Amino acid sequence: MIDPDLCTGCEDCTEACPSLFKLGSDWIAVPTVDTVPPELETEAVKTAELCQFEAIRIEND
Ligand code: SF4
Repeated sequence: MIDPDLCTGCEDCTEACPSLFKLGSDWIAVPTVDTVPPELETEAVKTAELCQFEAIRIEND
């Protein structure tokens, strides 16, 4: 999930991983999927670490 209160819409995540993140109409990033596919898990974690505002949180089931 992406915390809308922390996201600044900097687009780092959407540029690094467009498969999982897109910019919403209000310039807040939103995930493109509810559940990260196994083949994109590593990329999801790397992109979450890339967010300098710590707005991306990945939860395990
Ligand atoms: S990298 Fe973080 S702050 Fe930037 S758009 Fe993505 S979630 Fe928002």
